Amino acid sequence: MDRLEKLCVEKGLRMTEQRRVITRVISEADDHPDVEEIHRRSTEIDSRISIATVYRTMRLLEDYDVVQRHDFQDGRSRYEEASTDHHDHLINVRTREVIEFVNEEIEALQEKIAREHGFRLVDHRLELYGVPLNEDEEG
Ligand SMILES: [Zn+2]
Repeated sequence: MDRLEKLCVEKGLRMTEQRRVITRVISEADDHPDVEEIHRRSTEIDSRISIATVYRTMRLLEDYDVVQRHDFQDGRSRYEEASTDHHDHLINVRTREVIEFVNEEIEALQEKIAREHGFRLVDHRLELYGVPLNEDEEG
């Protein structure tokens, strides 16, 4: 059983064979796939999995806080494991490539801002959108 599947079981989610395949695909992903991509990878393992099943399962996994859904402003929901180490995202708006980063100064600054408003920070999301600096050279 992989970590994600174990988490689902711990949270009381009934694991069908197809849900197991889908959680495995997400576990093994090192990117931020959308539903279509998760479906494509899932059907490589089990060709009977429909896109409707993937949609339903992703909604369920999100409700159970097993996956995190991201909206990187291209009209597609993208997913990753909810429990991976905290990181923020930088999106290349030309290629839609997603780069993960952690910056301690930003983390500290966000906590400071929350404190100044009388809050203890429990979560945050930060997305940066950019174009490559060398874009013109590459034409
Ligand atoms: Zn990420």
